[in-house]
Amino acid sequence: MTNPAEILALPKPAWARDDVAMLYDMATRFLSEEIAPRYEEFEKAETFDRESWTKAGGAGLLCASMPEEYGGSGGTFAHESAIIEAISHVGVDGFGIGLHNSIVAPYILHYGSEEQKKKWLPKMATGELIGAIAMTEPGAGSDLQGVKTSAKRDGNQYSINGSKTFITNGQLANLIIVVTKTDPSKGAKGTSLIVVETDEVEGFERGRNLDKIGLKSNDTSELFFNDVRVPTSNLLGHEEGQGFVQLMQQLPQERLQIGTTAIAAVERALALTIDYVKERKAFGKAILDFQNTQFKLAELKTEATIGRVFYNNCVERHIDGGLDPVTASMAKYWLTDLQGKVMDECLQLFGGYGYMNEYPIARMFRDARVQRIYGGTNEIMKLLIARSL
Ligand SMILES: Cc1cc2nc3c(=O)[nH]c(=O)nc-3n(C[C@H](O)[C@H](O)[C@H](O)COP(=O)(O)OP(=O)(O)OC[C@H]3O[C@@H](n4cnc5c(N)ncnc54)[C@H](O)[C@@H]3O)c2cc1C
Repeated sequence: MTNPAEILALPKPAWARDDVAMLYDMATRFLSEEIAPRYEEFEKAETFDRESWTKAGGAGLLCASMPEEYGGSGGTFAHESAIIEAISHVGVDGFGIGLHNSIVAPYILHYGSEEQKKKWLPKMATGELIGAIAMTEPGAGSDLQGVKTSAKRDGNQYSINGSKTFITNGQLANLIIVVTKTDPSKGAKGTSLIVVETDEVEGFERGRNLDKIGLKSNDTSELFFNDVRVPTSNLLGHEEGQGFVQLMQQLPQERLQIGTTAIAAVERALALTIDYVKERKAFGKAILDFQNTQFKLAELKTEATIGRVFYNNCVERHIDGGLDPVTASMAKYWLTDLQGKVMDECLQLFGGYGYMNEYPIARMFRDARVQRIYGGTNEIMKLLIARSL
């Protein structure tokens, strides 16, 4: 197969060179050798296994951007981008490393006490702890202020009650950042993030592994908290009520990271499709020889190039000092819309084979759909962008 990383023939930006490029190559090798051969099995089981996580930890793919003193590799978001791109380029998108590395771990790094960082991050770097973040509830998705899960202080413990849904890594995770209300009367200002180590508590239950249309191998679950007791020292931040601000500060990276998956999937789809239309024949010539195919692929390659240049610029800005929330929303919405369009148009060029699960483009088409929904729907992204007008 043509190398997806080279399909756009763009020069590598400075942030993607040297050790980041080496990490990308290493991750691609690891994922191709260790994960891809078992991916079908994980898709059928609708979950990965813990062994894959600990192997990924051993290979240096977990907590790449966490400081070395906490067991990480001391990298930046560029390193996380390299790993996420490798996951999509190899086609093992259900491996929930991106969320663990660049969403869950940063909350602990940025808001955790020294003790919390030393306790949790090294185990997240080995895969002993698998991370999840539980914001969404049956009655609160886009409108996170409606979260009902409560955390009541009782001496030196919190008692957590409530339920969450659609939680990525929900079946495997044993370190979950739970969005709670410590003071329901204060709305957003009464929101706090509390860490639950599920191996250590009673009253925690996982619901069904949810039956999704795509990203099958990524376990996604309901979670139930029934008087789950955790020490008050599991609160993230110095005081209660900081949760909403913490979420707002971290969401740009979560959104950019969804954009990483999107642009890398676009590159893989183009590589697969260009290879296919050169081989497949109809009416005595290759599908690529039809002008329609050429024009379609010319358009998609152009849009992919625009997307990649924008994405690269976003990463550069993010590493330089943090991407602003409006641009991060633009990246999430535009790149995932592009992903949806490219998967659809590429699948069409495969004809009936594109609709068959044995062809990767079929799975990529299904996997792409959720990208416009999670991490804040694309409609919510437009609301955030519109506020800047
Ligand atoms: C596979 C998967 C994995 C997920 N992983 C996680 C996870 O790990 N952790 C987590 O906490 N959550 C997770 N989610 C939840 C996800 O973030 C929510 O589904 C998403 O935020 C939308 O919330 P909702 O489903 O309640 O939809 P709703 O909020 O009910 O929205 C329904 C529709 O209304 C639109 N809408 C809502 N408000 C407005 C508005 N003001 N203006 C215009 N349109 C609006 C939305 O855009 C959408 O089209 C995941 C979801 C999925 C499907």
